Amino acid sequence: TREAKLDLVTKSIKHFPDFPSKGILFRDICPILKDPGALTAVIDLFEEHVRQTHPQVELIVGLDARGFLFGPLLAQRLGVGFVLVRKKGKLPGPTVSVAYKLEYGEAAVEVQEDAVAPGEKVLLIDDLLATGGTMYAACELMKKQNAEVMGCMVVIELKELNGVEKLKPNTLFSLVQY
Ligand code: AMP
Repeated sequence: TREAKLDLVTKSIKHFPDFPSKGILFRDICPILKDPGALTAVIDLFEEHVRQTHPQVELIVGLDARGFLFGPLLAQRLGVGFVLVRKKGKLPGPTVSVAYKLEYGEAAVEVQEDAVAPGEKVLLIDDLLATGGTMYAACELMKKQNAEVMGCMVVIELKELNGVEKLKPNTLFSLVQY
């Protein structure tokens, strides 16, 4: 059942206080990947959501780096392609980028120029939504490529940071909330 799958996923998340810096409670998805049952549950839950809510999706777009762990598996299930949104400087050939603010300084996300066609219906995926800054920048990047963003998906949503507000009008689907 859906409840049993969510329970398995939730139990497979580990929590590390003060990592990578003091005051941050790091939510670690590595144990999900180590347990084939938990990983299947994650992909099952995402697949069910997409089939019910966004059956027209044409492309899964994963965020650097842990979006790469779940995105291709989901894309294969759905029979659609997968595209990487990477941190700046990692992708060869012509690229398009969007800069965004970090707590200290700036970062940028990048995609290969020919990776997404105008009008293509895309869903974005990452492991976790915190402030939403990264996911928002990825949405902007898709808009710059004239893609149609159907929604965003994460395994974990940190509710108190209210990243969902930053994503609006784009919608968020999350499996586990803290
Ligand atoms: P943000 O742009 O603030 O939403 O941060 C999202 C990105 O940072 C995601 O790619 C996460 O993998 C990572 N991240 C942020 N906060 C945490 C946390 N508490 N535990 C694990 N990963 C995090």
